[in-house]
Amino acid sequence: MDAHVIVGAGLAGAKTAQALRDEGYTGPLVLIGEEHERPYERPPLSKGYLLGKDEREQIYVHPPQWYAEHDVDLLLGTRVTALDPGAHRLTLADGSRLAYAKLLLTTGSSPRVLPDAPGVRYLRRAEESDRLKADFAPGARIVVVGGGWIGLEAAAAARLAGADVTVLESADLPLLRVLGPEVATVFADLHRDHGVHLVTGARIAGVDADGVRLADGTRIAADAVLVGIGVTPNTELAAAAGLTVDNGIVTDEHLRASAADVYAAGDVANAYHPFLGRRIRVEHWANALNQPVAAARSMLGQDAAYDRLPYFFTDQYDLGMEYTGHVEPDGYDQVVFRGDTKAGEFIAFWLAGGRVLAGMNVNVWDVTDPIQRLIRSRAVIDPAELADPDVPLDSLLSS
Ligand code: NAP
Repeated sequence: MDAHVIVGAGLAGAKTAQALRDEGYTGPLVLIGEEHERPYERPPLSKGYLLGKDEREQIYVHPPQWYAEHDVDLLLGTRVTALDPGAHRLTLADGSRLAYAKLLLTTGSSPRVLPDAPGVRYLRRAEESDRLKADFAPGARIVVVGGGWIGLEAAAAARLAGADVTVLESADLPLLRVLGPEVATVFADLHRDHGVHLVTGARIAGVDADGVRLADGTRIAADAVLVGIGVTPNTELAAAAGLTVDNGIVTDEHLRASAADVYAAGDVANAYHPFLGRRIRVEHWANALNQPVAAARSMLGQDAAYDRLPYFFTDQYDLGMEYTGHVEPDGYDQVVFRGDTKAGEFIAFWLAGGRVLAGMNVNVWDVTDPIQRLIRSRAVIDPAELADPDVPLDSLLSS
């Protein structure tokens, strides 16, 4: 009997192995990872683990013995070099072949790299978080290229460690593309209030381990430079195998790729989303956590569509937030705030045509369910009521 094989031993891969066993699959199961670490979660690498609050053991998806206990053949430090979907066969870096019955690709994504920038740091893997943690010493000069989630979470950790921090963002505000100017301003203010030297509209002329040169001639010296300028999905294996790839491995709502018995999940999957009515590729942790149940059920021949709304969270200094929903950069026409942005406790809603597309709760908790209900209702909501903290969110659905 050929095995069910999962290529990519990150959160999505490990959780799919677990879901296959939970769903009653008792056949051979192989989980292949290129890293030497057993599957771990990445959010702590730029949050609690980087801050020194979480222990190393806390980042792992499962304890070491879990894999043997569940009869999962975990092949670490192993690269898959080729996929032959017709023959249902993989080739590994050592030349060996592995036949599969069903194959799931959870190959994730890799940091976009700045060309000609020797010695800079990236933050994707556990050992990179260890290295940054060592860099973040009191008085150390840390320069961060990119004001996205990695850049801002790392900047907060560096400031909390007492480092001098400069963030260089090419856009006019950090997180501008994901949040739009109304809410991106909140994050710019947050970091400036905590002493980060935030340079927006930064034009970078040169970067190396000793610092950054801007196009206007300014030189910013650094003890360490972290580059966080986004990621690209790891689609090489799928593309070389002739699978349909378009900003990720294209799948239907059942996470089925374009070849028979091949599935994809996590960062690498550009999956059709039934509620949104189009494909989206989601790079956030919650997607890698939740798609696996649907992937496992699909692999076992059950009718399982994945239609959860995207969700992510961040913790920076004393700001904790959750974001639910999905908005394209130009896909909204109004932002409504409920609560006080200056006091740092509020919910922001992105709307189009009066309908809520996404909500972000900042230091306000237990509201993701009503936010999801608002989004899923597609109801036209009165913005004045939406802005009024005295009006319960669920009551807006019936008004
Ligand atoms: P990101 O969130 O996509 O942000 C990259 C940022 O760098 C963007 O603001 C981008 O601006 C900017 N940028 C791009 N090229 C630049 C350049 N040459 N010079 C200066 N700035 C530049 O990516 P990331 O922060 O690297 O994070 C990597 C992945 O991990 C993402 O998928 C992210 O969502 C995920 N992550 C999520 C969380 C969370 O959910 N809390 C935390 C950490 C990481 P433009 O948009 O204008 O290109």
